[in-house]
Amino acid sequence: MAIDWQLGTVSSTRDETATVRTFTLSLPAWAGHRPGQHVDLRLTADDGYSVERSYSIASEPERAGEVDITVERIPGGEVSPFLHEVVVPGDRLEVRGPIGGYFVWEAALGGPLLLVAGGSGVVPLMAMARHRARAGMSIPTRLVFSSRTYDEVIYREELDRLAAAHDGFEVIHTLTRGQPPGWTGFTRRIDEAMLADALEPLGAATRAYACGPTALVEVVANALVRLGLPPDRIRTERFGPTGT
Ligand SMILES: Cc1cc2nc3c(=O)[nH]c(=O)nc-3n(C[C@H](O)[C@H](O)[C@H](O)COP(=O)(O)OP(=O)(O)OC[C@H]3O[C@@H](n4cnc5c(N)ncnc54)[C@H](O)[C@@H]3O)c2cc1C
Repeated sequence: MAIDWQLGTVSSTRDETATVRTFTLSLPAWAGHRPGQHVDLRLTADDGYSVERSYSIASEPERAGEVDITVERIPGGEVSPFLHEVVVPGDRLEVRGPIGGYFVWEAALGGPLLLVAGGSGVVPLMAMARHRARAGMSIPTRLVFSSRTYDEVIYREELDRLAAAHDGFEVIHTLTRGQPPGWTGFTRRIDEAMLADALEPLGAATRAYACGPTALVEVVANALVRLGLPPDRIRTERFGPTGT
């Protein structure tokens, strides 16, 4: 069934890092979503030229009538620089959604959970983490999160807060291109050994969700199969058209 376009109003924006911004979209006709789903945005120029892009929903479904999307500015891109440089609170955007039923986790599915993200791939996983926290669940959950540098860790402070609640949510960071003084975490790309360590305390019944650039998602999915997770417990979402 086709999903209709609706007009959303940008009610606020928040910078997450120097190149990543969250937009809260107020959607009076929003029917709700499941964590992991995305929306499509459509921009139309005065001459009728229009372009569409998908953005994962970052917010938990418990927030009614609005969704957050978190957009990384891709240099030279058509849509993401426009969102960063032109769109301000009060602007209206065409939105369609929620879309997707495969890359979805909600509390009723249970766990344990292994979430694996590269860069902005953390966005749909954040919807899951926020939903888990709002639902008051203590399902053992580990997020393995690859970022280039400390300053580029999206949602860093909120992730610290979620981990500090000591309700079974842990974050394992790896910083691949630069580390602050005293950094004791990982410094390499996500690989099978890192995933084996992350998976070990969670066990064989773990559900895994991996999201990010295509190359990262391929590595993670293949490694998790080799580590013994049944393929139907591994869900993937690819953001970038290239292996960047
Ligand atoms: C299901 C889904 C969910 C998504 N969710 C998010 C999200 O939550 N946040 C987010 O920031 N993006 C997300 N994306 C990516 C988003 O849809 C766009 O592809 C991205 O914003 C780039 O669009 P653009 O118009 O700025 O660049 P384009 O004009 O499409 O591309 C410009 C150049 O950048 C390259 N490029 C395109 N996308 C990427 C990328 N992701 N990484 C590196 N290079 C790229 C292209 O190959 C091209 O060379 C999602 C994609 C999918 C399919």
